[in-house]
Amino acid sequence: MGTVQRRNAHLNDKQLKNLRDILLSQKEDILNKISDQTQYALDPNEQKEQVDAANNNREKEQEARLLSRQGFLVKKISKTLLDMDNEEYGLCKECDCEIPYERLLARPVADMCITCKEDSELSERSKLYKKVSKSLGKTAQEYGRA
Ligand SMILES: [Zn+2]
Repeated sequence: MGTVQRRNAHLNDKQLKNLRDILLSQKEDILNKISDQTQYALDPNEQKEQVDAANNNREKEQEARLLSRQGFLVKKISKTLLDMDNEEYGLCKECDCEIPYERLLARPVADMCITCKEDSELSERSKLYKKVSKSLGKTAQEYGRA
């Protein structure tokens, strides 16, 4: 085989390996944290008095939200590693441009360039705004106060 260029050739092997190591250790960290929290949640000694029940519930809710966010991150990292195997890592999924190594280093799971990321966040926000105003027949501002 001659010199077949990778699609994400702007990243060299060393950079890719570096990023892969970061992703793998992040994933391991999260998985460890999740198993810690699960153990904590199942601890029978943790039963609190009834006065604390409401607080406890709130804590559980927060915990669950945290767990689901971490679960989401783990999925995202796994997908990123898959992209790496497919040589699609480091390319913007919107405009196909090359995401600079510096950005990937700061945020290894980034799958969009900064410009597309900002665009998508803006349109997310305006979508939410429209949805809220529509469902209530009010402005989102009024909804925020309620
Ligand atoms: Zn882009």
